[in-house]
Amino acid sequence: MVFDRPIGQNQGVAFPIAEAYIEMAAANLMRWRACALFDGKQPCGAEANMAKHLAAKVSWEAANVCLQTHGGFGFACDYDIERKFRETRLYQVAPISTNMVFSYIAEHVLGLPRSF
Ligand SMILES: Cc1cc2nc3c(=O)[nH]c(=O)nc-3n(C[C@H](O)[C@H](O)[C@H](O)COP(=O)(O)OP(=O)(O)OC[C@H]3O[C@@H](n4cnc5c(N)ncnc54)[C@H](O)[C@@H]3O)c2cc1C
Repeated sequence: MVFDRPIGQNQGVAFPIAEAYIEMAAANLMRWRACALFDGKQPCGAEANMAKHLAAKVSWEAANVCLQTHGGFGFACDYDIERKFRETRLYQVAPISTNMVFSYIAEHVLGLPRSF
């Protein structure tokens, strides 16, 4: 509570959280699309790569919003927010890096020439 009301009552706080929720929902749909193709024994490389990229991107953005929302407390180890912030950054590197996803999409989906 700040100024005797929940901080989420401020649109400046609520809107970035709403945006993160929307983008996570979209990433989740791509995840399920890839799963459905895989279960149907259909090619799913593009969807799996896109789902991985979207999830990595939006989880990082959501973690950033979370840190901002918590202000200075976001950096206190007790709340585990700085830990989740660091951990979500991992997904742009491993299990495959963002550039590898872009490379797959550029070459195998868009038909662009290989760069090497
Ligand atoms: C916490 C953690 C746990 C892990 N656990 C496992 C595990 O259990 N099993 C396992 O096998 N591996 C594991 N890994 C390794 C992980 O799979 C690799 O770190 C990941 O694939 C990235 O490869 P790399 O580290 O060699 O980085 P690199 O591929 O060398 O990437 C370094 C940079 O170069 C860029 N880059 C690389 N190639 C290209 C290219 N062709 N074009 C443009 N840019 C490029 C990348 O985008 C990145 O920015 C783990 C890594 C971490 C951090």
